[in-house]
Amino acid sequence: MLLFSPEQLLSHPLYQQKSVQVYMKRDDMIHPFISGNKWRKLKYNLLKASELGRDTLITFGGAWSNHILAVACAAASGGFQSRAFIRGEEISNPVLDMCRLFGMELLFVSREAYKDKDKLFSQLEETDRSFMIDEGGAGMDGARGCSEIISELEQQYDHIFVAAGTGTTAAGVAMGIAQQDRMNLLHVVPVLKGGAFIADEMQQLGADLQQCRLHLDYHFGGYAKVKPELIQFVQGFVQQTGIMIEPTYTGKALFALHDLLEKDMFEKGSRILFIHTGGLTGLLGQLKHFQD
Ligand SMILES: *Cc1c(COP(=O)(O)O)cnc(C)c1O
Repeated sequence: MLLFSPEQLLSHPLYQQKSVQVYMKRDDMIHPFISGNKWRKLKYNLLKASELGRDTLITFGGAWSNHILAVACAAASGGFQSRAFIRGEEISNPVLDMCRLFGMELLFVSREAYKDKDKLFSQLEETDRSFMIDEGGAGMDGARGCSEIISELEQQYDHIFVAAGTGTTAAGVAMGIAQQDRMNLLHVVPVLKGGAFIADEMQQLGADLQQCRLHLDYHFGGYAKVKPELIQFVQGFVQQTGIMIEPTYTGKALFALHDLLEKDMFEKGSRILFIHTGGLTGLLGQLKHFQD
């Protein structure tokens, strides 16, 4: 496992045309299955589970969740058993099959039952030996891990971009920026509709939003929804840079960066960092969009 992800200068005609430098923090390279921000968010959860002497990790997620797969792999690596409550009817897909391969037990529950996670947890046997990790690794411990994305940086930037689902990663990044007295603006791109709640989430986790901008218009219809424009953009970016991204998170956030560049929102000479939060196994469910 890489404990320190590279900070890579990207080459792309648009960056040249607009005279900006765009770097990418390659958290996608941390691990193939405990990918990107999910590794960051799990780090302190796993330490806590070990300290408490728990032997089973319990978590929650949807059927294509990058987080579920990350927990399955992290559990196997750390000598834990793992179980996950999966929202919705029992199905099979490549992500869930890989979870099973890592030894995770999957418990499918109705959308109604899924809403009360504490109740689901309390109904398990031997809860005193189990450690509960929230959906997506959300929470304080997750944010703390994500703040290290910033403490690792070797250079200074004017702008930092990151995708947001729950806002835990963005909160951690904002906290890292504040801890380090960095001067940059943080641009947060919610990937779901009605993403204004991300600001509240971030504040609840202790982030100060003064140096933060939310860009609410890049959800493309909602979580995991796509439009031809987005698919074309992802194709173009992957083909021009050789860096794989996916349309659910990194594709939308990079689209936002490119759109704002096109609209001349950044001064010439700006230094911009894009955080590649990983999640490439999610592509297994989205490849159908790229078939023609
Ligand atoms: C889960 C995920 C996110 C969202 O992170 P939050 O902390 O929930 O906002 C962003 N990018 C990728 C690739 C992810 O898998």
